[in-house]
Amino acid sequence: MISKDDYICSICLGVFIDPCKLKCQHIFCHSCLLDLIDFNNIKYKCPMCRIEFINKDSPLSIDQELQNFIKNNFPNQYQQRLDELKNIQSLLPNELKIEVNYGNYYKFEDDESDDGLQHQWTVHVSLDYTKQSDKIALKDLDLNSLIKNVTFTLDETFFPDVVTVRQPPYLLTRWGWDVFTIPIKIKFKKEHNIQPIEIEHHLVFENDGIEKRQIVKIDISNLTQFQALKQNPQQQQQQQQQ
Ligand SMILES: [Zn+2]
Ligand SMILES: [Zn+2]
Repeated sequence: MISKDDYICSICLGVFIDPCKLKCQHIFCHSCLLDLIDFNNIKYKCPMCRIEFINKDSPLSIDQELQNFIKNNFPNQYQQRLDELKNIQSLLPNELKIEVNYGNYYKFEDDESDDGLQHQWTVHVSLDYTKQSDKIALKDLDLNSLIKNVTFTLDETFFPDVVTVRQPPYLLTRWGWDVFTIPIKIKFKKEHNIQPIEIEHHLVFENDGIEKRQIVKIDISNLTQFQALKQNPQQQQQQQQQ
């Protein structure tokens, strides 16, 4: 039986709308890859296995056959994902689309200690502008500076099992036996009045770990930098033309 889980992008966790198969056979959304890979660099790496490709040898193109297959076999999920993307692409003037970059680094230590905690992992999260960010004039502002704290909820076998990091970089390193899902909550400083962002990361104990990315919208009405821009729209225009 075919399962939709086989057609889910490990970067955005959505069903593939624009699947793109790399030479290493890992599949991601075309749009996810475009945002993740720096094309100024002729080389790029698979986000999953880190195998390196040269852009001209392995151009990113949408696998139409696979796209049609998903469209035909999972029409509801396909449409739902399409709607989600449309929703995230349409912005109100006071909304900013940002990237939540997260994932885990991973290291296997083959030591003979009796506790058996051979897997070292570091879960991390940071915010960034999307590559096509439309509010360029805000770019001097480091989005991470808006964060008050980040809370990672671990498996209950850890003590403490809820860890709040109050300073950047927002990451947490632990040793463990097995993978599990970590709910991550990003809270913003009160004066910015931005709703917390909640995501989940499922640990990956393979290769060096995994990098993921999710696009979210935040309401920036209360940001001083945004209010300054509204009062001086000319400056915004000039900066956008640059
Ligand atoms: Zn994706
Ligand atoms: Zn790969």
